[in-house]
Amino acid sequence: MMRARGLAVFFCVALAGCGGILGGGSKAPPNVGELKLELREYYDSGSYAVEFAAAIAEARKQLGRKSPRLGQRFAVVLDIDETALSNWAALQANDFGSVTAGPCALPQGPCGWETWLARAEAPAMGPTLELFREAKAAGFGVFFISARTERFRAATERNLMAAGYAGWAGVVLRPDDASSGPAAAYKGPARCRIEALGWTVILNVGDQPSDLAGSCAERSVLVPNPFYRVP
Ligand SMILES: [Mg+2]
Repeated sequence: MMRARGLAVFFCVALAGCGGILGGGSKAPPNVGELKLELREYYDSGSYAVEFAAAIAEARKQLGRKSPRLGQRFAVVLDIDETALSNWAALQANDFGSVTAGPCALPQGPCGWETWLARAEAPAMGPTLELFREAKAAGFGVFFISARTERFRAATERNLMAAGYAGWAGVVLRPDDASSGPAAAYKGPARCRIEALGWTVILNVGDQPSDLAGSCAERSVLVPNPFYRVP
């Protein structure tokens, strides 16, 4: 017994105090393997869907506060990826990694992002589709503003249609030459260009802080996305 305790003390000293040498003031970020497990649990448990729906319910309240009248053009702006459409299948195939080019093999991966976009198979985020339909029925114009580039316009519009988003007022994509800069610098001015056409953007919904950056939106709502970050 004493010998066992002595060994434990030895290892505690050797490992810098049994609190763990990375405890306390460690600057080490969370373990990425454990984070991936937590992300899958967040998705599979239904928590993601619940929190996503709650955010969209909050966004829908803004529709109730506004009523397009004759001569008024109210617009709703939606982001596409992880806001209007779900890329969960591709994210899983790539184990949350970023694979830009190459074929897309589902479900085992890897899944090249460009090939995935060209397939136009991303399903709708259900609550966002409901918001879209409600906004359309109430007379709002719905615009999509995405960091996707123009060369994916045909596939993107085909995907939106297939997912049920019919009758948008516009789909704004980035130019292929990346002259628009990062998403955070591009999305605000894109909304302002819509307003310059005579619309008032009364609601802007996205999954990234960069979707919400900038002006030209009366109300902005962030839906959850702990799976990746678009600067
Ligand atoms: Mg997005």
